[in-house]
Amino acid sequence: MKATGCYVVTLAFLAFMLGCPHIRAWGIDGHLTICKIAQSRLSKAAEAAVKGLLPAQAEGDLGSMCSWADRVRFRYHWSAPLHFINTPHLCSFKYSRDCKDADGVADRCVAGAVNNYTSQLLGHGRGASESDYNQTEALLFLSHFMGDIHQPLHVSFADDKGGNTIDVRWYRRKSVLHHVWDADIIETAEERYYDSAPDGLIEAIQQNITSKWQDEVEKWESCGRNKTACPDVYASEGIQAACQWAYKGVRENSVLEDDYFLSRLPVIYKRLAQGGVRLASVLNRIFE
Ligand SMILES: [Zn+2]
Repeated sequence: MKATGCYVVTLAFLAFMLGCPHIRAWGIDGHLTICKIAQSRLSKAAEAAVKGLLPAQAEGDLGSMCSWADRVRFRYHWSAPLHFINTPHLCSFKYSRDCKDADGVADRCVAGAVNNYTSQLLGHGRGASESDYNQTEALLFLSHFMGDIHQPLHVSFADDKGGNTIDVRWYRRKSVLHHVWDADIIETAEERYYDSAPDGLIEAIQQNITSKWQDEVEKWESCGRNKTACPDVYASEGIQAACQWAYKGVRENSVLEDDYFLSRLPVIYKRLAQGGVRLASVLNRIFE
């Protein structure tokens, strides 16, 4: 059976997830794509460090662990607000205003999490003892959250829970707008163009990175002086894409078909590309 969205791991998990409508995460293939692209761009030092931190079951493949953070979100209850950012009904992101959880605790959002796990990993091999932080978990969280922050509806309006409360039809199926961006668009592209598997999609995005977007890549990677990661930039782009593309023209019970799919797919490709390129550049800076 093909893995679709978050809804795979075990039956119990499936039941739990279905009972919980406000799930927020790129689907498994979105995260896989970002981590595969990232791993192919790692420096030798970063590749060695990443392989050293990955658990044995990953067999050196970061992509296989990139949805781990979604699988543990119910065990690590505290981690649930770290997958997204809620903004007021505005097409802008402001860290001091928006990066907090539902109780108002500062830094508990995906931008704060990217900063936090980046600094935990920067401690790696520089005096922080193994017991200070779990560096394997820090790597898996960072790799996942660098993906989430690039999903436009993970930096989006609080009042509709990032599109989770907007019911739509994706062609003939029932869906919600958030899930359209997590998984439906990617899965439809895979079904139509890539034999229902992620490999061809990943390859197509990688080819664009070295051709169509070649001149933009350096800008995606750069983060300003002395900065290892710049989640404020990624989040600002995210909310803008949410307004310009994800929410645009969509109402409760909208039927989304080819017009929406064909115009939004390039946006998804670019966000996946940026997520992968940037995850690599952050890991390369951490483990230089
Ligand atoms: Zn997530």
